[in-house]
Amino acid sequence: MITTVRILIVDDDPAAIEALEHALAGLGELCCATGGAQALALMADDPVDLVLLDANMPDLDGFATCHSIKQEYPDIPVIFVTAFGDEVHEVRALKAGAVDFVHKPIKPPVVRARVGVHLRLNALNAELRALSGRDALTGIANRRALDNQLVLEWRRAARQRQPLGLLMIDIDHFKRYNDYYGHVRGDDCLRQVAQVLAAMANRAGDLVARYGGEEFAVLLAGSNLEGAGTLAGKICAAVRALAIPHVHSAVAPYVTVSIGVASGVPAIDPTRQGANATSQSAANAAPVLQRVQVLLARADRALYAAKAAGRDRVCVEAPATAVES
Ligand SMILES: [Mg+2]
Repeated sequence: MITTVRILIVDDDPAAIEALEHALAGLGELCCATGGAQALALMADDPVDLVLLDANMPDLDGFATCHSIKQEYPDIPVIFVTAFGDEVHEVRALKAGAVDFVHKPIKPPVVRARVGVHLRLNALNAELRALSGRDALTGIANRRALDNQLVLEWRRAARQRQPLGLLMIDIDHFKRYNDYYGHVRGDDCLRQVAQVLAAMANRAGDLVARYGGEEFAVLLAGSNLEGAGTLAGKICAAVRALAIPHVHSAVAPYVTVSIGVASGVPAIDPTRQGANATSQSAANAAPVLQRVQVLLARADRALYAAKAAGRDRVCVEAPATAVES
């Protein structure tokens, strides 16, 4: 698969940006920012594959910018471009998360070669991450990938004041299915349900994951309770329409699912606002994960309510629950 990489050049000096643009011409799509805050805003809108970062900038300098980038996008390589030649600054940049250095004035072939090396390494890393984030049986995302994506989408939703919807889905009486039809047919059933989910939640920002056993989760960026509930109803109907025989289900003579729906607009984290967002961001990682767990727990409660009400149905959490996340 051929994809164009996107490289972000950050420097407060337009002449330095121009020199780097010449050096990197043809390696990918180049975009630029003249300050740290602008760079972060640009990345929030459309993530990039690699960042070249000037160390010495007014306001948010390269070190603080790098720290923020690493908090939000730990996998994006950052190369420092610096006039500082001393080891103190080099160590400081590496500690802030940089993968490499180039020195000013730049030597175009050297910059180009180094950027090429890091793009190749990054592509390999992305491949490994994709493999480690995939469920081997169904080919959809696994729980680890879901957890990572939940944190990213949660932060995006907080920035953009958008809701984040979540479905928890369970195949009804699946243990009885496995006991009667055997594990080979059971695995096939899981694959078929996973395919239905992947086909129905396919917008950018949607993620379908196997949560464990016969349980699936669907992350729906931008979906409120109503939107997420509507999709859940369609998924229920689509699984029913597969008409996979299940003679020992207490619900229907074929395979059905129960779905719990939750949604919330994440509260903006005040410590992430403004130019000195970096100082607090390390401390914020855990709370985001905890708040994401709350959303998962709410969808799970709704799922149990759907089961308690007779299975083969959708239960949407009470709107009051959804106000604060
Ligand atoms: Mg500068």
